[in-house]
Amino acid sequence: MNKDIATPVRTKEILEKYGFSFKKSLGQNFLIDTNILNRIVDHAGLTDETAAIEIGPGIGALTEQLARRSKKVVAFEIDQRLLPILEDTLSPYQNVKIIHKDILKADVHEMISQELAEFKDIMVVANLPYYVTTPIIMKLLEEKLPIRGIVGMLQKEVADRIAARPGTKEYGSLSIAIQYYTKAETVMVVPKTVFMPQPNVDSAVIRLTLREEPAVKVKDESFFFQVTRASFAQRRKTILNNLTSQLPDGKQKKEEIVSALKEAGIEESRRGETLSLEEFGLLSDALYPVFR
Ligand code: SAM
Repeated sequence: MNKDIATPVRTKEILEKYGFSFKKSLGQNFLIDTNILNRIVDHAGLTDETAAIEIGPGIGALTEQLARRSKKVVAFEIDQRLLPILEDTLSPYQNVKIIHKDILKADVHEMISQELAEFKDIMVVANLPYYVTTPIIMKLLEEKLPIRGIVGMLQKEVADRIAARPGTKEYGSLSIAIQYYTKAETVMVVPKTVFMPQPNVDSAVIRLTLREEPAVKVKDESFFFQVTRASFAQRRKTILNNLTSQLPDGKQKKEEIVSALKEAGIEESRRGETLSLEEFGLLSDALYPVFR
């Protein structure tokens, strides 16, 4: 087997060979621990029939492990300086394709139909650039890609918010947005020491498994998300106060909002953070005729 990329010695060698300097603005913290990488990949449940999509391959540390453990890897990298490096480090692997593109601007559906059309099992696995973690995850989910799930490294604080349950201080509109589409779990907490350079924040790995159907069935998805965001606008306020101050003409429609809360079986004095996804679903359906 080829020498692993993800060791401190090999990583330094590669960086020196190419005179590569990290760009903080691109969230470049490379993994230098093969053991951690293997554990991340374990959580993705890859088989020799799986295709992996990676975001931000860096110098190929994770890409290499994915190439060994899946049938094909397609990786999106924004930093042009990394392309010749990846061509070199990943030269032993014939099943990897690097696409030089900002994932936020990429047409991932199109890529899948061109590169991965024959795959029934597609997983996204990534050590995400921390400055755009949430937009990347939301893009992948909102576009309703034909993927089984996402295993991603991100800031621990964001992982905690994504996987939070009702009644906790981490629970908010991000938890709901992601749990609407997926079953979300934090599967690993990762020390700073496994990165080069070391980030300032703690990290964690989350696994998002796509649901066949959204967690709740609602009349209008975008209105459901509008109601959840409104409900958390000021965490210390009651649900009634947040809805009247945040929804359009909410103050004039206070009576209707009170009735909708009653219809959904939700006390108006509760706070947004105590409502389950199901309750938000009932609430947004009860409010929908008032605001559509
Ligand atoms: N996968 C490598 C590893 O684990 O060592 C590198 C991970 S590093 C945290 C994030 C990577 O994402 C960097 O290579 C960075 O250049 C790349 N990146 C940052 N923003 C991106 C974007 N919008 N689209 C694609 N890649 C991006």
